Amino acid sequence: MTASLHDEVVGLLRELIRVDTVNPPGNETRAVDILRGYLQRNGLSCEVYARVPERANLVARIPGAAGGPRLLLLSHTDTVLADPAEWTVDPWSGELRDGHVWGRGALDMKGQVAASAVAIASLARDGFRPAGDLIFAATADEELGEGEPLGLPWLCEAHPEAVRCEFAVNEGAGDRLEVGGRVFYLCASAEKMSSPFELRVRGRSGHASTPSVADNALVKAARLVERLGEFSAEPELGPETEAFLVAVCGSVPPPRDALELARGVDPVVAEMIEPLLGMTVAPTMIEASRKRNVIPGGCTVTVDCRLLPGQTQPDAEAHLRHWLGDGEYDLVWREGQGGTRSALGTALWDAIAEFVAAEEPGATAVPICVPGFTDSHWLRAAFGTTAYGFFPLRAMSPDVAGRLIHAADERIAVDDLELGVRFLRHVARAIGSAQDMS
Ligand SMILES: [Zn+2]
Repeated sequence: MTASLHDEVVGLLRELIRVDTVNPPGNETRAVDILRGYLQRNGLSCEVYARVPERANLVARIPGAAGGPRLLLLSHTDTVLADPAEWTVDPWSGELRDGHVWGRGALDMKGQVAASAVAIASLARDGFRPAGDLIFAATADEELGEGEPLGLPWLCEAHPEAVRCEFAVNEGAGDRLEVGGRVFYLCASAEKMSSPFELRVRGRSGHASTPSVADNALVKAARLVERLGEFSAEPELGPETEAFLVAVCGSVPPPRDALELARGVDPVVAEMIEPLLGMTVAPTMIEASRKRNVIPGGCTVTVDCRLLPGQTQPDAEAHLRHWLGDGEYDLVWREGQGGTRSALGTALWDAIAEFVAAEEPGATAVPICVPGFTDSHWLRAAFGTTAYGFFPLRAMSPDVAGRLIHAADERIAVDDLELGVRFLRHVARAIGSAQDMS
């Protein structure tokens, strides 16, 4: 990469980190102003979409010349909070130190925002004319996503033409995994459904000085919480997990043996696939009496629950009720978000695999389902987009990156920023040279 692209991406990221876009309240328009200035200086026209003025989304594009497939480089500009007391540097300093840019959002995901902006800007300067639109979108409100939609879900609904695309590259993976001397780069092609529920346990209130007169809902809930703590679903293998196992472990075992096989290959691999073999439940909140001397007549346990892509809530509920047994409780779903997947073996997959093989000979791209939620879901649901989460990290190992995301001393290696720009330029060229929509 030329020195100028290196300086450009580092400089842009440092600027983006210096504006506080902690969500809430977000204030993503601060980041949009920086990006708009940068992209316009490079000859790109920008569209700003804001449901709330201080929480804008930015879209820029190089128009397609020949009706080819559209590729969206998707990123979000909000971050989670940071407590300066826990940090070695000011989390909003964007300090450049030891070959890393430090600050809140460096990994999640202002680094990719900056790399995507530099990729499209540099391609525009090069006079690049893709067959289909190359689109850059930096959106608001990914980290929280509660209340009225303001970011990508709102764009898909209110301004679909701004973000409609056949292919998208987003966050979600890109980690370099080394197993037994072989190297893999993980590409997120699916994600689980976030599907929290409440157990509302019924009892009968009474004075705490005479416990036997009442029926303590909190005590009844304890048995259910314990049972949830032991929950394990019958293992299943989705297509991504099968493909992952073939590549990393050498075969597709019967689902029940998958974890054992993975453990034999590497404990890290086992840790990675364990949540991908079935739905998971984690009780996280509980509410009962608000008075010390009143026995609760009701108790609500909130449970974080993640379903496999394609799994439905009625199906999950049947499993849960069977597991918990009869009892005086209601199971109430709070919501269901995500749980979508994109096909493998697409033109975008080929472009990613090609980049990985060229970048590090012998390395291969492998698909993975992510246990969490990303904005890729909205594109898949709205437009049937093939959306993958991929931003390669080579200099920083995945366990280090994993510990820094949403945590103190978040930083990204300058080398990985450069790698990201190279990757995004490669994908844009590969998809942009396709002549049809397939
Ligand atoms: Zn993120």
